[in-house]
Amino acid sequence: MNVETGGVEDDEINNETEAGGVGIFEENVEFLDSENDIGIASGSNNVEEDNSENESIDMVASENDLDEHTQSDDEENGPNFVVYNPNQMYDPALELRMIFSSKKEFKKAMQSHAIKNKRNVKFTKNDSFRVYAVCSREGCEWKIHATKLKNEHTFQVNLYKDEHTCPQVFKVKNVKTSWLSERYLQEFKSDPKRCVTGWRVDIMNELRCHVSRDQAYRAKREALTKLEGSPEYQFTKLWDYAEELRKTNLGSTVVLGINDENGQNRFEKFYVCFSALKQGFLGGCRPVICVDGCHLKGPHKGILLTTVGVDPNNNLYPIAYLVIQRESTNTWEWFLTVLKHDVCIQRDSEYTFMSNKQKGLIQAFQSVFPNTAHRFCVRHLHNNFKNVGFRALAYKNAMWKAVRASTVRDFKLRMEEIKKLDEKAFDWLKEKPPSEWSKSHFTELPKCDMLLNNYCESFNPNILDARDKSILTMLEWIREYLMQKL
Ligand SMILES: [Zn+2]
Repeated sequence: MNVETGGVEDDEINNETEAGGVGIFEENVEFLDSENDIGIASGSNNVEEDNSENESIDMVASENDLDEHTQSDDEENGPNFVVYNPNQMYDPALELRMIFSSKKEFKKAMQSHAIKNKRNVKFTKNDSFRVYAVCSREGCEWKIHATKLKNEHTFQVNLYKDEHTCPQVFKVKNVKTSWLSERYLQEFKSDPKRCVTGWRVDIMNELRCHVSRDQAYRAKREALTKLEGSPEYQFTKLWDYAEELRKTNLGSTVVLGINDENGQNRFEKFYVCFSALKQGFLGGCRPVICVDGCHLKGPHKGILLTTVGVDPNNNLYPIAYLVIQRESTNTWEWFLTVLKHDVCIQRDSEYTFMSNKQKGLIQAFQSVFPNTAHRFCVRHLHNNFKNVGFRALAYKNAMWKAVRASTVRDFKLRMEEIKKLDEKAFDWLKEKPPSEWSKSHFTELPKCDMLLNNYCESFNPNILDARDKSILTMLEWIREYLMQKL
């Protein structure tokens, strides 16, 4: 079905002439004489002056004016003209004389129409008072013209040929990231952790259009930015977040560190140790603290340092976490000092720390906990052992026998076996203090023969999903995770 306005021809000149006859389109304003424009303006000024002098008459006059305007509006737009419903934005039912509240709304409706009908639609005219759209396929008759109504932002369809004579396409160019992010905003809101791959397959099935992987990723990022605020905005909200945590978790330690660089505040660190976790650790956990760090993959890089304790059932028990810009001896020292205060470590010789010997950590331990026992994760030790050339299974088995030896005598026997196997391997292991890696030399106080730093390593994968988020989303994700764990 081809629908056209009465007497309006396709070419622009006729269109303008016709519109001039009706007198409702703003483009006609341009064709008015400038003298007339001035005349109208000065006339209206005079009316205003008159009104200020006769207020009682003015009320009546203005009411009459209002009635007249309402009437003329009805005449212009017509009460029968269908007004475009933005709630049906993704399923637009276009028709001739349809009213759109703005150009933006009209263009969005065209985009949705193109995607719904799986046709490429392009704009041939796009200025402040008219938007013309046609089907991109050569020979197809589909077209729509909308022009701005006089003295308002409203656009009205004044030409519409609604039938496509072209075939449907799979790759619709009108599928844009912004459209996708807006269309599926609620889906992202209800399940922000959903993987993009699955979501992309679902929307391609629903729309029956091609959506590239890049588009899907960008759409998700854009939708989450709309929901959560931009990464930069989230940094500005950290003060409020820290204050809210302190207020709602009395007794907790929340520290936001800021650097002053050239008069500008720059994020340095964010430390959280919840009161409930402190009390739980002091109340029943073993005097063992595992320390680990992982790199953040969000828009702003950084490192997340975590400390995890071991409860009487040998399950992991998170204690505190810190987000910092970069890992160094200073940051580790600061972290350990605050932790020492938080979990009330009076005699550090009673505690055992386990780590992967991260950069700067050993020096930090020496200055903050000089008397504490320190264990090195055996998996990392074995990796280092392999990296220096002792790769065979025989080396691995021999090393693990020494690791698991529970008496000093047994340990010495196992080391002798390694010496017989390869003297270089024996020399390499001899340099490592056995108190760091063999059960035979561990302190008895914690009653814990843990060999691997897998408490931290099993805590970190749980927060992997949060690592690529913006700072506030990530911190909130970790907090929720900890609350569920408790
Ligand atoms: Zn077409």
